[in-house]
Amino acid sequence: MDYLVKAIDHTKHFRAIAVVATDLVNTAQQDHDTWSSASAAFGRTLIGTLLLSAAELTKDEELTVRLQGDGPTGAIVATGQADYTVKGYLQNPHVALPLNEKGKIDVKGAVGTKGMLSVTKDLGLKEPFTGQTPIVSGEVAEDFTYYLAVSEQIPSSVGLAVLVEPNNSIGAAGGFILQAMPGATDPEITAIETRIKNLPQLSQQIFEGKTPEDLLKQILGNDLKILETSPVKYYCDCNKEKFGDIIETLSRADLMEMIEKDHGAEAVCKFCGKKYEFSEAELQEMINKK
Ligand SMILES: [Zn+2]
Repeated sequence: MDYLVKAIDHTKHFRAIAVVATDLVNTAQQDHDTWSSASAAFGRTLIGTLLLSAAELTKDEELTVRLQGDGPTGAIVATGQADYTVKGYLQNPHVALPLNEKGKIDVKGAVGTKGMLSVTKDLGLKEPFTGQTPIVSGEVAEDFTYYLAVSEQIPSSVGLAVLVEPNNSIGAAGGFILQAMPGATDPEITAIETRIKNLPQLSQQIFEGKTPEDLLKQILGNDLKILETSPVKYYCDCNKEKFGDIIETLSRADLMEMIEKDHGAEAVCKFCGKKYEFSEAELQEMINKK
């Protein structure tokens, strides 16, 4: 079962969230029929978005991450909610590049190395908050770390991992986000950075059955305090009403044309692929309201 754990270390100078999200990325892989390189890039973006949401959101807030690189996957978009659900889509799911020089999935090749990572937060205020930073790596985790450091001035370390099986299913997926709190000293930060650099490979650890708690102990030390444990899920909250609201904003002429030409309308959710049909009568009702 997928879940995340939030914890703080004994000095209270570092907090971290770790997640195992193998089922979550499997659902995304199946919903969008992603191929290996796209699965890794998409999965990492989904997990990064989930971790950022878990670190920053409360109540009904949501945030959307858009990773727009110059690689073959095109734009990757993910939306996370405060309830630890995440959903997303990508421009081209059918990307399977040869393994890179290290024998790993070529995420950088799929995402590209030029472009932007932008984060839009809907915090229930009138204007949503948007921050963006250039892509610095294309491997995704480093891009989240850079965004947090530069755009939000939060010194962080982000780790994201997706292991893709030869049959395209997801063998393991997960990640962590570590943040230094005010009061963390430079020697403490150096010590924890060294510990993270020397961690065994994340995807392999999750594949072997390591839990979020195990990962947190490696990062924060054994003497940590668990703050929260919660399930996580790939979930799309779309419904017919939301699509109806969008169609209703079309002009009278456009709606008339839908009735005369197509005898109805069909909307497809980009996030989950669900289809919603609108009959001639339903479209006529929208026109009557104008
Ligand atoms: Zn949907």
